Amino acid sequence: MRPPLCHVLISLTLLCNALLLYYTWRLQLRPMGRQAPTPVLSPGVTVIVREFRTFEHGLVELSHSFLRARPTLPLLIVSDTLPYPPPSLPLSPGLKLLRLHPSPEQPGSASHLESHVHTRFVALVPDGTFLEPPDLLDRMLRELRNAPPSVKIIAAAAGPALHCLHLNVSLREWTVEYGEAGAGSSCGAVSGAAVLLLRSHDLFELPFPLARPLQAAIFIQAALRGWEVQVLADASFSRTPLPATDHGRWKAEQAEREEEAVTMRTLGVRLVRGPGGAERWFGCSKETPRCFGTVVGETPEYLYEGHWTPPCCLRALRATALHVISVLEASSVRYWLEGGSLLGAARHGDIIPWDYDVDFGIYLEDVALCAELRGAQGGSLVDAGGFVWERAVEGDFFRVHYSQSNRLHVDLWPFYPRDGMMTRDSWTGHPQDVEFPESFLRPMQTLPFAGGVAQAPNRHLKLLQMKFGKRAIEEPEYPNPALLRMRGR
Ligand code: ZN
Ligand code: MG
Repeated sequence: MRPPLCHVLISLTLLCNALLLYYTWRLQLRPMGRQAPTPVLSPGVTVIVREFRTFEHGLVELSHSFLRARPTLPLLIVSDTLPYPPPSLPLSPGLKLLRLHPSPEQPGSASHLESHVHTRFVALVPDGTFLEPPDLLDRMLRELRNAPPSVKIIAAAAGPALHCLHLNVSLREWTVEYGEAGAGSSCGAVSGAAVLLLRSHDLFELPFPLARPLQAAIFIQAALRGWEVQVLADASFSRTPLPATDHGRWKAEQAEREEEAVTMRTLGVRLVRGPGGAERWFGCSKETPRCFGTVVGETPEYLYEGHWTPPCCLRALRATALHVISVLEASSVRYWLEGGSLLGAARHGDIIPWDYDVDFGIYLEDVALCAELRGAQGGSLVDAGGFVWERAVEGDFFRVHYSQSNRLHVDLWPFYPRDGMMTRDSWTGHPQDVEFPESFLRPMQTLPFAGGVAQAPNRHLKLLQMKFGKRAIEEPEYPNPALLRMRGR
């Protein structure tokens, strides 16, 4: 017998209710912290204008040019604060001003790039650029789609032709190095104003997608990911370089220098070597504090973060060491390379690239020969070069600081001979800090060190083996392997 229709309907309603309850229950079970699903991006390009000056720009002309050719093009003008006075931008549904500085009454996402890009590709366009020829964005898109997977950025000249550069970034050494890219080799960066096209998710992957100067910041982050840049051949966007006035250009250069300093420090870069070898420094100087804090357990903080000694600090240490050598030699104080500095001299004629100070031994009886050391004994002495000579507060030795602000230093350890051994009254407790036969100092020899030459014990390899163990020269290790060992040499 067939069940009546109303029974079937009631059963179906009950079943639907049960299913609804089940799904509601499953939905509530979903962990709260789960990431929102990635938004679906539409094909096409969002033009992002980040590189412009609020005081003199061509945003109105740029917007008109791009929107005339592509009326529905999403165009995002990004700036830390809103341009002032407010530009009269064309009315277009796709045009938006994004202010990166968050506003307390706005949701946090309002200042995030991801909330404003809904296309699969982005084009970073410098101020003053026109969408001319109009098909150039499409050509760039085709080029990116057809490029090998290692190519993540297509660069097209905005104005004069681009120059392809090789780029090497070593965060361990805080250094960025540009070089001429050989013919046929891929580019890591380009010099010259460029429109950069990349996939939106690649741009979002960069921790600093909008840091300025934009091109340098993008290329450095790209290099760390092994991304290549491909230059669009035989084509360029037309562009009027901005600012156009002398005063505007001067202001822009000042601003760019400040932005670059902030960005390089943010990225962990202290030295930029240009393609011609010109160096730009973003680290410490005589006027600033040392780059790192008090060293605990012979292991400076930068080692834990995977860095070696910042290049600015190595440079300051070398300068201090050479200065101390010249003062000691001028006053006939007998000194020699000690500890890690002797090890560095033996290995490669320089300070060990992760060391944080320089150590010399001196004859205690020679202290009286040197005005700077006599001055240091009574307290502290600043010499004509701005170096600070002090009796160390930590123990029975002298310390020469790079400057009053920057406490990078050379330590001078006074030894005296007793029964044929060089000894001291107090020791640091470091395994390499031990007595040794005076015969190592009779006579002394010179070794290349820190860009000059320094006095050193004779048979220094033998002495180093005594201090550091048999294989110390061939097998470099961090100063305190019990705390931190060197890996992946
Ligand atoms: Zn430094
Ligand atoms: Mg040392």
